[in-house]
Amino acid sequence: MSAVSGLEIKEPSIFERGSPGRSAMDVPDSGGSAPDIPDALLRKASPELPSVSESEVVRHFTRLSRMNYGIDVGLYPLGSCTMKYNPRVNEDIAAMPGFAAVHPYFPAALAQGALRVMWELAGALAEISGMEAVTLAPAAGAHGELTGMRIIRRAMEARGDPRKKVLVPDTAHGTNPASCVLSRFKAVEIKSSEEGILDPAEVARVMDDDVAAIMITNPNTLGLFEQDLPEVARIVHEKGGLVYGDGANLNAVMGRTRPASLGIDVMQFNLHKTFSTPHGGGGPGSGPVGVVRELEPYLPIPRVMRLEDGSFALQEDFPESIGRVRSFAGQFGVIVKALAYVRALGAAGIRDATEMAVLNANYLRARLKDRFHLPYERPCMHEVVFSDRIQSAGGVRTMDIAKALMDHGFHPPTVYFPLIVHGAIMIEPTETEDRATLDEFVDAMISIADEAERTPDSLHDAPHLTAISRPDEVQAARKPVLTWKPK
Ligand SMILES: *Cc1c(COP(=O)(O)O)cnc(C)c1O
Repeated sequence: MSAVSGLEIKEPSIFERGSPGRSAMDVPDSGGSAPDIPDALLRKASPELPSVSESEVVRHFTRLSRMNYGIDVGLYPLGSCTMKYNPRVNEDIAAMPGFAAVHPYFPAALAQGALRVMWELAGALAEISGMEAVTLAPAAGAHGELTGMRIIRRAMEARGDPRKKVLVPDTAHGTNPASCVLSRFKAVEIKSSEEGILDPAEVARVMDDDVAAIMITNPNTLGLFEQDLPEVARIVHEKGGLVYGDGANLNAVMGRTRPASLGIDVMQFNLHKTFSTPHGGGGPGSGPVGVVRELEPYLPIPRVMRLEDGSFALQEDFPESIGRVRSFAGQFGVIVKALAYVRALGAAGIRDATEMAVLNANYLRARLKDRFHLPYERPCMHEVVFSDRIQSAGGVRTMDIAKALMDHGFHPPTVYFPLIVHGAIMIEPTETEDRATLDEFVDAMISIADEAERTPDSLHDAPHLTAISRPDEVQAARKPVLTWKPK
């Protein structure tokens, strides 16, 4: 048995398999004489390595890989993360030698195809969002937020009106206030209404001459459409502020509405969520930023431009730019996949994806709302937030429900976020799941609700069927045990 942060995996480790003398390789005798190694450097005892055959090695690693869970295994309803299926063909396209082998130091003349891909994707994102111009430089959503907030700071300085505060709703993702603070703004929290959305009257109450911007996610992290966003934007604009849109939830609105039409001045796109890049394993992502005309001069450099002769170039001569935000021009592989995805779907396909994502979330909402507490009783967008209020009366909490789902073969949803819902269970099915899969998920959730009523204690140490049951997640991340020592 091997230890993982104090927990035992219910599988013999590779060190406990095999037998002495067994080997997974056969090194032919070179026939030459042994090299002259000083005695002091020669090993006296054999290293304590496993003695296993080739098939044991293969089986060991294959077994380990099967303890993992991914979108290729089943539904991955992690709310806010948009864990949808990303077509494999986009990987093939990004791996084509003309894309994969292009070097950022190539002269523009040798990189026209790559530059054109970047220029076309920026154009497509501008079209989808209604923004005037788009930079592809930022490396992730949070990095896009930071870039956007720096643009806002620069715009305010250019107006001769440096302001100190940014309004952030209580439903915001944690990266929002962090991006404000890193851009030297003070994040001021705004309370959402009883309906879970922004109340224009509350925004009007806190909006003053020292507020540079408001940061809004639409739909918000409760999966609810901020229906008063145009009114909120009007209030903020009237007092000289700007509106930042966290575009991580674009999967719920693209093709149906454009953030610019709702009053947003600057936003990031999470290409790895909305536009076809597998994520969750640590990267790479990409967080392009779009801006309205007034903010275009401040976009980071380099910018991909189309010249008068029709060719493409990276240009740096933008004196008002906030400067560079990273090395080179962007996460090129992710950019290629995003363009392939947008081109394959087309305008109608993009709208369909949005409609299916919203339909799927509302299907789960309708089928589960009699068994799980729904804090906001109204149609949702691409994700639905429940709470553990009904089950916690019997001692079963959100974490128990999430862990029990693993025994039913599903990845757990996002838990305990957004923070304004006590015991939140945030489910985002995405558009790529079919009805049969959603029904299986509903059956699993209902069976957990039944179990919570009948035998609540059995849920406290779920999951029972996985290799590891309940690791100490904090310790596993902070002090991982990555080495093995023979006893
Ligand atoms: C994922 C997410 C972010 C951050 O994006 P990253 O690419 O993970 O940095 C910001 N806001 C919301 C609402 C998100 O869901």
